[in-house]
Amino acid sequence: MGKAGTRQAKLPAGAAPRPSDVAWIMQRLRRAMPDLEVPAVEKIARDSRVDPFLVLIGTLLSARTQDATTHAASQRLFARADSPGTMARLGVRVIERLIYPVSFYRTKARHVKATCTLLVERFGGHVPDTMEDLLTLPGVGRKTANLVLILAHGSRRNICVDTHVHRISNRLGWVATRTPDETEQALYRAIPRRWWPDVNLYLVTWGQNVCRPIGPRCRACVLAARCPSVRVSAKD
Ligand code: SF4
Repeated sequence: MGKAGTRQAKLPAGAAPRPSDVAWIMQRLRRAMPDLEVPAVEKIARDSRVDPFLVLIGTLLSARTQDATTHAASQRLFARADSPGTMARLGVRVIERLIYPVSFYRTKARHVKATCTLLVERFGGHVPDTMEDLLTLPGVGRKTANLVLILAHGSRRNICVDTHVHRISNRLGWVATRTPDETEQALYRAIPRRWWPDVNLYLVTWGQNVCRPIGPRCRACVLAARCPSVRVSAKD
């Protein structure tokens, strides 16, 4: 392990980070979490006592949408319907009005209604707990499915990779990848299993608050001592 305060060298493509370096980073992120705003879907999971249906719908609404917008839209929708059966009976136009202004609200409204209908007709009103079944739901891709498996079904075998996780995993030198799907597969090889369920919460929260896409706050970052990308910004 490098000494604290020593910057970690960028790993060659394909090389895995040392488990002790991953642990160092994850432990610092864990300690930082209580002071930071957590992602909207995490809030929905906590507030609903991990209702798989609300986690699924909140995740569907969250794609490419600001957290505050996702949270407010979810609350409006859940106040009107909070089960697959009641939500499937809402008209698409009604769902559109309730979730506006989330991005792609028209497409998402169609997906929400179609997903609820499938949950009722094919899954007995329950949210499935396998990747294979989740991917049959309209609008559900690997990111959504992984997050539902982790948050709603307590899986410890999945890593959910969104743009924040993709960006920060590359900045930290854990992976050298071009897409979130590549990053997901690379992370399974690169980091110890014990951290898999925490990667999304920690890196998304860090990405929203500190390691931002543009203007990362490297000077305020508790990971700077071991981040090979620490020079990406010296502004704040
Ligand atoms: S040091 Fe900068 S680039 Fe590295 S994780 Fe922190 S904010 Fe991101």
